[in-house]
Amino acid sequence: MDPLDQILQLRKLLDRANYAYYVDAEPLMSDSEYDKLLRELIELEHLHPEHYDSTSPALRIGGEPLSGFESVVHRVPMQSIDNTYTLSDLQSWYERMGEFLGAPPVCTCDPKIDGVAISLRYVEGILVQAVTRGDGERGDDVTPQARCIRSVPLRLRGEKLPKVLEVRGEIFMPNVSFNKINKEREAQGIQLFANARNATAGTLKSLDPKTVSERNLAFLCHGRGEVVWNGEPSRWHEFVGAVRKLGIPVSDQLVVCNTAQQIIEAVDSFEEQKNNLGFGIDGMVIRVDLFDSQVELGSTAKSPRWCIAFKYPAEQGKTLLSKVEWQVGKNGTLTPRATMEPIFIAGTTVQHATLHNIDEIHRKDIRVGDLVVVEKAGEIIPQVVSSIPSFRDGTQEEISPPTKCPVCDGPVEKEGPKLYCVSPECPAQFREKVKWFAGRDQMDIDGLGDKVVDQLIDAGLVHHFADLYTLTSDDLLPLEGFAEKSAMALVDSIEESKTRGFTRVLSAVGIRLVGKATARTIVKIYPTLQLLQVATIEDFVALHDFGEITAETLHKAIHSKQGEELFNKLASVGVVLSQDQNANLDPVFANKTMVITGTLERWERSALTEELEQRGAKITGSVSKNTDVVIAGEKAGSKLKKAQDLGIEIWNEEQLAASLSM
Ligand SMILES: [Zn+2]
Repeated sequence: MDPLDQILQLRKLLDRANYAYYVDAEPLMSDSEYDKLLRELIELEHLHPEHYDSTSPALRIGGEPLSGFESVVHRVPMQSIDNTYTLSDLQSWYERMGEFLGAPPVCTCDPKIDGVAISLRYVEGILVQAVTRGDGERGDDVTPQARCIRSVPLRLRGEKLPKVLEVRGEIFMPNVSFNKINKEREAQGIQLFANARNATAGTLKSLDPKTVSERNLAFLCHGRGEVVWNGEPSRWHEFVGAVRKLGIPVSDQLVVCNTAQQIIEAVDSFEEQKNNLGFGIDGMVIRVDLFDSQVELGSTAKSPRWCIAFKYPAEQGKTLLSKVEWQVGKNGTLTPRATMEPIFIAGTTVQHATLHNIDEIHRKDIRVGDLVVVEKAGEIIPQVVSSIPSFRDGTQEEISPPTKCPVCDGPVEKEGPKLYCVSPECPAQFREKVKWFAGRDQMDIDGLGDKVVDQLIDAGLVHHFADLYTLTSDDLLPLEGFAEKSAMALVDSIEESKTRGFTRVLSAVGIRLVGKATARTIVKIYPTLQLLQVATIEDFVALHDFGEITAETLHKAIHSKQGEELFNKLASVGVVLSQDQNANLDPVFANKTMVITGTLERWERSALTEELEQRGAKITGSVSKNTDVVIAGEKAGSKLKKAQDLGIEIWNEEQLAASLSM
């Protein structure tokens, strides 16, 4: 098939898959299938840069990092919405609308998502600009970032497209992604995002669009800006239906109401559902449906009059703080956890909450015995928001940071607001490390949950990751809950995990700052332990997204006595410390015949050959018309000349590096 036809077909298929997923909520294909097709498309576009298209799904993986943001004036200001907190205020608002318009208006209610507002501009159906709200008059151009959000259509569907369509909406992070990212950040020892909105804002303002592509943000339309559209609907709820047909994701919770009573019922009944949507909602937006009436009502300097947000009360409660314990994480972090009198908030009983760190405890002046305010939002861990000092009776005790590790009595060090147990022998750290090691995203050992890890360590069976691999069913049988069959099943699944590959091992062993994504980056360039061991700190600094600290930490972890012992032991029990790239051949290299010539700065020739072969390339010694790519370093001679004569694709080191990290 002609490459252009193939490219067009893949783009169409991927667009359809996105529409099915985000607008119809009926996925066409699995995520891995989508990724596979996307990689195919990326490869094809890489080979045929002449078929570039600003609406291609291939752009969703993000391009080059940006140097800054450009400020853009909104053609129609992005005003903020007035809030109301009581149903009686909401009722008065509705009555005011009715008085002004001469009759009670039809209104719509839809959920107010807790995210970051954005304006997407489509001209002739093509996404041309994405701008943040900013101060309402002007915002930042985040078009490359928005392109990396799969639910933002790059091209609208259908025949009669609006000439200009600006939709406003919310970019947000689903709870699942938020929890996942915080888990990864915790594993890497970097500060957690306080909530999904902060995480979204931080992600969207990242100058590297690749970050956006990895964070799984989503978009829902909730408003309109400039619109030039022959046959534009005249009511909001019709507009929502019409843009949905164009492929723009909208809320499926929209309700049309004809009376104040119906509005109040909609707001009431939604309060129960709002914790089950999978993303954060902080209220309901009520607006006059008819656009002409909206124009008639106009706006104040700050907000439109025809629209109001009802904010649900924060999911908070007051209870007694009875105890603070310091928990030891796998990197030795000591995190304060509050135990409280049980209290019912947002659908569940809460008894524990995080206090973040010692600086936060002091800033909020929280003491043991205090009456405290606890907040819970969605799936986020409950947290202690504040204390109520007026309640104190003199029995409250100030909380001081631990001077010794509560588990191993080892020395404690403070780094910024964080406390660490720095004893390398700390059993609590090890316990957490084994739980992490066995987790689904790491070695994925079925049947080795937190409880079993505790049992194994308590029974003295596991002192090192490698000990897991020598366990027998006879070792397990005496443990509570194990029978012949389950013991054998666990031994089998531990055995099976040996071949998960180097990427997973590297993120499983719990090197500080090295999570899954970082491990992937490392293994792409250093697919075996041997290759990793000869790399220098400078080599690591050159890796995508690596800073000096990460590079040094990684280097130290590999070359420390414990590090060497760790990998030796894992190797000795048969854990595979290389990545079988056959399992996921790189489409950029698969089945390509390549020739390497000249002196390369960044790679050792034999290591590079091995790397490329693992990705599916065939490396040959001489250039012929069957050669697909020639990689030319410094002082390349006759082979380069021959490749030029034959018109064969030639890559320099930069291009090779870019292809390797794609
Ligand atoms: Zn300790």
